[in-house]
Amino acid sequence: MHYDYLVVGAGLYGAVFAERAKAAGKTVLVIEKRNHIAGNIYTERTEGINVHKYGAHIFHTNSDVAWEYINRFAAFNDYINSPIANYKGEMYNLPFNMNTFHQMWGVTTPEEAKAKIEEDRQKSIEEFGGEGFVPQNLEQQAVSLVGREIYEKLIKGYTEKQWGRPCNELPSFIIKRLPVRFEYDNNYFNAKYQGIPIGGYTGLVERMLEGIEVRLGVDYLANKNTYDELADTIVYTGPIDAYFGYRLGALQYRSVRFEEELLDEADYQHNAVINYTDSETPYTRIIEHKWFEFGKDENGRNIPKTVISKEYSSEWKVGDEPYYPVNDERNQKLYQEYHKLAEKENRVIFGGRLGEYKYYDMDQVILKALEESLD
Ligand code: UDP
Repeated sequence: MHYDYLVVGAGLYGAVFAERAKAAGKTVLVIEKRNHIAGNIYTERTEGINVHKYGAHIFHTNSDVAWEYINRFAAFNDYINSPIANYKGEMYNLPFNMNTFHQMWGVTTPEEAKAKIEEDRQKSIEEFGGEGFVPQNLEQQAVSLVGREIYEKLIKGYTEKQWGRPCNELPSFIIKRLPVRFEYDNNYFNAKYQGIPIGGYTGLVERMLEGIEVRLGVDYLANKNTYDELADTIVYTGPIDAYFGYRLGALQYRSVRFEEELLDEADYQHNAVINYTDSETPYTRIIEHKWFEFGKDENGRNIPKTVISKEYSSEWKVGDEPYYPVNDERNQKLYQEYHKLAEKENRVIFGGRLGEYKYYDMDQVILKALEESLD
């Protein structure tokens, strides 16, 4: 059988593309290296709890298009992400908002909080390049947004653990993901829509791929020529540097390792996400999965046990799972070189976090796949 499309990777990008192609009357074959679908949004049910096996995923978007699309494949609950930071036993609300500022400094009004931040910014002006400086890196951006103390307690340790690089060598856009609010509002995302798919992400992707041929445990790059002959167009969602045999050098990624525990108790931390923002604690955060679904199973009953995951961040090496592209200047330049090679591959579409080497959120992945599948 010859297909219109061969989709390499059954993660979110691949699933959306395949679903749209099928809906447009095209024939599609999806192949996937792992022995399961859904890529890094894969969830697995344990004791009635949908465990996010490759890290917590909270769907959030401002896009009506992305929200309407994803809701065709699952109903969403109204979970709102409100992580808490634990700095050496001091607990702070995230994202940075009036609750955090009050906990940190005792201030009670937005004016007082803004004055405190401005005072810190003024103190750092000389160091950062004088009046009118434009933040050049994550440290400068963070101090300008929330002041030196919050940077030291809630940002520096966490960020350096997550990225394995000093904050003054990281791009400022990473921290711009986080809202700063002069309101008493602990909602982590500035998003019109937010929630967790009821029943888990795996079921959602399963419904996207309904009626589409999927082959699991298949290594595309090891048998590239054979698979390339099967279709007119290839949609490749693996790492772009791996596609080209790392011929220009390897791009850097961050990997994550999870220490998962099933505990014989109903409540470990009573919040889905607690970040450990000091630099000594070896993990970045502890996820308690049941709270993404309010501690209830699919029949609305309280779950007597709980599953937690401690998240450890590490530099990616061959054989590890790549999670986050390291979008610093050096890697960005190298990616541009790979991108030039990719443009010459006429019948290949490169997509997703790994194929485009971008720190995408799920909604951005969906929008990009929808756009590409229209062409
Ligand atoms: N961040 C931080 N302190 C926190 C949480 C986040 O400094 O307690 C910063 C950090 O630089 C991190 C970025 O915000 O790299 C994005 O973090 P988040 O956990 O939201 O990213 P995710 O891993 O969920 O994509």
